[in-house]
Amino acid sequence: MVLTFPGGISLPTNTNALKNSLLLKDVPQVMLPLGDAEEAYTLTVCQGEEVPAGGLVATLGDGTPIYSSIAGEVTGIFEKGGMHYVSVERKNGQNDTPPVPAREPESKRLDDMTAEELLDAIKTLGIHDLWSGDWLWRRLTPLVGKIRRVVVDTTDDSGASFTEYRSTLRHPGEILGGAKILLHLLGATKAILLVDMSRQKVKEAFTTMINDPALLVMAETQVKYPMREETLFEAIYVRHLKWGCTAEEDGVLFIKAQTAAQLYLSMLTGLPHTTRTLTAAGEGFGKNAVITLPLGTPWKTVLEAAQFKGGAYRTMVNSLLGGKQAEGAIDGKAEAVYASMPLDRKPSHCIACGKCAEVCPMRLMPYKSLTQRSYLSAKRIAAVCIGCGCCEYVCPAAIPLREKITRHKG
Ligand code: SF4
Ligand code: SF4
Repeated sequence: MVLTFPGGISLPTNTNALKNSLLLKDVPQVMLPLGDAEEAYTLTVCQGEEVPAGGLVATLGDGTPIYSSIAGEVTGIFEKGGMHYVSVERKNGQNDTPPVPAREPESKRLDDMTAEELLDAIKTLGIHDLWSGDWLWRRLTPLVGKIRRVVVDTTDDSGASFTEYRSTLRHPGEILGGAKILLHLLGATKAILLVDMSRQKVKEAFTTMINDPALLVMAETQVKYPMREETLFEAIYVRHLKWGCTAEEDGVLFIKAQTAAQLYLSMLTGLPHTTRTLTAAGEGFGKNAVITLPLGTPWKTVLEAAQFKGGAYRTMVNSLLGGKQAEGAIDGKAEAVYASMPLDRKPSHCIACGKCAEVCPMRLMPYKSLTQRSYLSAKRIAAVCIGCGCCEYVCPAAIPLREKITRHKG
């Protein structure tokens, strides 16, 4: 089924994000996340000390290194929204320098490396996993020997985002390299490159590069937003994930194309992971663009670069419907930011059309959260709902379904 979101909210229909590419260099400040209040860390620099791009600023309790993504001066630690950050500010006139390596470029053949050696390298290189928002080594460690298929997801989470599309066109070879590293590390037997069927150029890029079809294959998926693990799994395997079961428990690892490319590039060069690519799109921006910037860049710098118009426009990170406001710094999961007018419709009564159930990526029946008689169903819906807002968006009665569902949480 193709979900196009008819009416209701002003979606960025005419976006130039695909045409425009911005490389944000020389950002004045970065805020590097150290984790929430529970996460232990040790600072390896003092306030006022200068660090190069790629310089170590802190080590988390489990040994995960935190590198600065710009050259500058450490200006302190602060807390925002329950997260701790270390702030690095560029000094006047200081230009961006290439990051310093975190380790030697990998010289061993992939086949000669053990899973432990690879995990250690991934940890040292500070690679973020865009799919989970966590550190890649943390996500992969419990999965060694338990994964059959690695699915590299080159699709974007909405029709207005071009982050993975652009990253895939820029780095098809690196993505294949990253997929091969993951296959070897996890002991998986095949990698599937998942391509949005409307992205012809991605198909062409991979078609000419795949020289080992026994190991790497391409699969196409129809456009359906949001693309979550459940919907992508269904698109590939033409069956649902077992209720309450994750794809990883079914032996399938989903990884974003950007992360696969970063894995290969960092292993090859020994350079830590210090950049991120994301899309800024929507009528609330003067300039729609795919932006590459240092990790930890404050959202206000991103919004300025995209010429955010302010006023009644609101920003939403990652989701056009259920995204949170762009505040603080870009985090491990930030892939897109949208700016549009808020949804402004007058709610009426449910007409039992079933549209909300049809679009829900979690296969829920959101209308069941509306009546007291369905109390148990409502609790179940609240427990599984990912808050994407698709149901609310298509509801012809304009019922604020997410709010109704959240009522039953806990
Ligand atoms: S907000 Fe929840 S119930 Fe509504 S479509 Fe998304 S996952 Fe389904
Ligand atoms: S989409 Fe709206 S009107 Fe239709 S069944 Fe769901 S809640 Fe009711």
